[in-house]
Amino acid sequence: MELEIKSLVKTYGKKQALKGINATLTEGVYGFLGPNGAGKSTFMNILTGNLKATSGQILCDGKDIREMGREFRGILGYMPQQQALYPNFTAEGFLAYLAALRDMKRSEATERIPQVLSEVGLSEVAGDKIKSFSGGMKQRLLIAQAVLAEPKVLVLDEPTAGLDPKQRIAIRNLISQISAGKIVIIATHVVTDVESAANRILLIREGEMVADSTREELCGALAGKVFELRIPQEKLKVVEADPSLLVGNISRERETLFVRVICENEPEGYEAAPVRPGLEDVYLSCFRE
Ligand code: ADP
Ligand code: MG
Repeated sequence: MELEIKSLVKTYGKKQALKGINATLTEGVYGFLGPNGAGKSTFMNILTGNLKATSGQILCDGKDIREMGREFRGILGYMPQQQALYPNFTAEGFLAYLAALRDMKRSEATERIPQVLSEVGLSEVAGDKIKSFSGGMKQRLLIAQAVLAEPKVLVLDEPTAGLDPKQRIAIRNLISQISAGKIVIIATHVVTDVESAANRILLIREGEMVADSTREELCGALAGKVFELRIPQEKLKVVEADPSLLVGNISRERETLFVRVICENEPEGYEAAPVRPGLEDVYLSCFRE
């Protein structure tokens, strides 16, 4: 299956939230990475039919998804950014309710609900009310509803929002497990959410797609441009004021600071060791302001 996004534009009044996005997606995991306000949710809302594009279109195997209507919604699973869970429902009651809304056959729902609850590790609390759930459990339940009807296209908007690092890892691993054979789109501003799982990273900045590539290629483009400077603390102001240096992580060992920097050429006048670029460096250099 193939999704083709063609010159997608969305304006809210005067605000141009999407400025003509193009991309072609086939089976695999895609990380839509960009800061808050970049246009990620706007894109997801258009893809899921919750919002109408101002112009441009999305094609699924050559057919406009708006014309496909129900047919497209039938192959789509969506985990929205805003949590919409009913506190007094049980986990299985919530899934049964959504299955009914989706016109899933009763027999199919009865079979599928325990399966997805098991996949997301919620079998033991299937009969517990959602209000007793932790943030991580709620996120897992939202993923469960998104995969309930075995979607071909799975759209996850900020799936790890509000989770601690351990819960983030659990959600990321869960996504990797359920992604086989699907087009999975993960929107996030958290680099580590897509660093290992995504086959392709799409960087979105102010409504424009500024990169669409593999992690290796994106990091490769920064090869020879990332260094760790070893400086005395007093020198930090000089480093920060140096326009040729983009400052990343800073760590300290007694009076010495280790400052990760991105720059065009090896920095002169510093004790600098080259380091391997990571996706966080790519993010930093793309969204430097
Ligand atoms: P992201 O999900 O990447 O944080 P959004 O798609 O939510 O970005 O927002 C993109 C831009 O569009 C932001 O500047 C945001 O303020 C604006 N925006 C989003 N929704 C609306 C709306 N309903 N009305 C007006 N502006 C909006
Ligand atoms: Mg968003």
